[in-house]
Amino acid sequence: MEKNLICINCPQGCHLTINTASETGDFTVTGNRCPRGQTYAIQELTDPRRVVTAVVPTNCHALPYLPVRTDKPLPKTLIPDLLNSLYKMRVDAPKAMGDIILENYKNTGVNVIASETL
Ligand code: SF4
Repeated sequence: MEKNLICINCPQGCHLTINTASETGDFTVTGNRCPRGQTYAIQELTDPRRVVTAVVPTNCHALPYLPVRTDKPLPKTLIPDLLNSLYKMRVDAPKAMGDIILENYKNTGVNVIASETL
């Protein structure tokens, strides 16, 4: 099986081709200019993840929505549930940039942190 991807790890945007050996399941990656492209391609096929950015409603009139993000990439399959959880939350002030808003989401080790001070 062959799949084409663009590496999103840096502005070079290398065009990657991943071949999967049908007998062994081993991956061969070409088109990458550095090892990060190979790591990205294999993870994208086996366990795709993304850093999630969103806003969370607050109880503060001056800043009704607090920008937040995950501190690590989260498995893509969990992103819709995370967004639903975040949109139902209400955050109280004060919060500093980097404060944990949601800890260890679904035991993934991924925290949601404030991207701005509230
Ligand atoms: S393979 Fe390396 S050089 Fe190419 S886009 Fe990815 S990180 Fe950048």
